[in-house]
Amino acid sequence: MSELTVPFVDLKQEYVTLKREIDDAVSAVLERTSFILGAEVSSFESEFATYCETEYAVGVDSGTAAIELALRALGVGPGDEVITAANTFIATAFAISHTGATPVLVDVDPKTFTMNPKLIEGAVTDRTRAVIPVHLYGQPADMEPILSFARDRDLWVVEDASQAHGARYNGRRVGAFGDAAAFSCYPSKNLGAYGDAGIIVTSDEEVLVKIRMLRDQGQAKKHHHELIGHNHRLDEIQAAILNVKLKYLDRRNASRIEIAARYRSLLHGLPLVLPEQALDREAVYHLFVVRSKNRDDLKNELGDRSIGTGIHYPIPIHLQPAYAHLGYERGDFPVAEMAANEILSLPMFPTLDPQQIEYVAQAIATSLERIGSASPSQS
Ligand SMILES: *Cc1c(COP(=O)(O)O)cnc(C)c1O
Repeated sequence: MSELTVPFVDLKQEYVTLKREIDDAVSAVLERTSFILGAEVSSFESEFATYCETEYAVGVDSGTAAIELALRALGVGPGDEVITAANTFIATAFAISHTGATPVLVDVDPKTFTMNPKLIEGAVTDRTRAVIPVHLYGQPADMEPILSFARDRDLWVVEDASQAHGARYNGRRVGAFGDAAAFSCYPSKNLGAYGDAGIIVTSDEEVLVKIRMLRDQGQAKKHHHELIGHNHRLDEIQAAILNVKLKYLDRRNASRIEIAARYRSLLHGLPLVLPEQALDREAVYHLFVVRSKNRDDLKNELGDRSIGTGIHYPIPIHLQPAYAHLGYERGDFPVAEMAANEILSLPMFPTLDPQQIEYVAQAIATSLERIGSASPSQS
């Protein structure tokens, strides 16, 4: 097969395809000069709430802010503890810390790499106020046991759906399960802006009202500041772009699902662990994450063949200097630590073409042969 270049992610092709629509939407905002919390933000909020099968949505300026404001609106603050998964993007934990609460980690399930519901109980103390399951890589967390545990213990549930716009669990969209859910619209996410953006969904009107105040200087109405607020407003230009892109989200997720299926059939039989497909969940493959004992060699070999890959994430949260004060040690979360050593994210974006997928699969087969791969630790 001829040499190709396969980037890890490609945002350009989408823009080329949607250029007229996006440019028109941005120009319209510039012409209206209504730059802050205008018609595009309101429209995106109502469309996205409908999309997620929730009552309300509030646009904010990042996924990190979305998690923080959802927690704050639920009353989480200093002295509280919030449980989340040990294998997530560190922003989930930072958002907890920004409220003044303490993140408490639990290990993930070795098949799905989402929060292991059986481990939550052991992490609960009388300070625990909320649980944040993360729908990592586009794969919904196991919501049923998490929700029923949280209900029993009177804990809030805030979903971190930053990697899973449109994914379903038991037929329902993620975001519709918790007391609130946070989405990042960072450019490379399944629904990405052309800059930083995020959105919170909820069906609780009280939470809605509080989040609206918190994102906009604590105002109930102009110059009436009820709470110590933030400036975490969603930018009007980004909202205009997101309104265009939301219309294509299902189609683009369908492409990701097709690409994942192609990878599965081409990589089948290789000494590599492929991502789990849980029958009660429809994953939207923000990332396609495989596992190999020889991950670092494999990553290098693929790099030599001009194939971009990533590791999500190479250093677990509990081993990051920022969280040294939490007192965790190596060995505390063995599954997250195993993942950090073995996972590799393959190129994944909706316009990845069949020739590129085949090239990646063939390069993986050749590389594994060269490396003389050992078999993975668990399958
Ligand atoms: C991207 C991401 C975030 C943070 O979102 P930003 O928009 O970058 O602030 C939080 N959690 C997860 C799981 C993410 O993937």
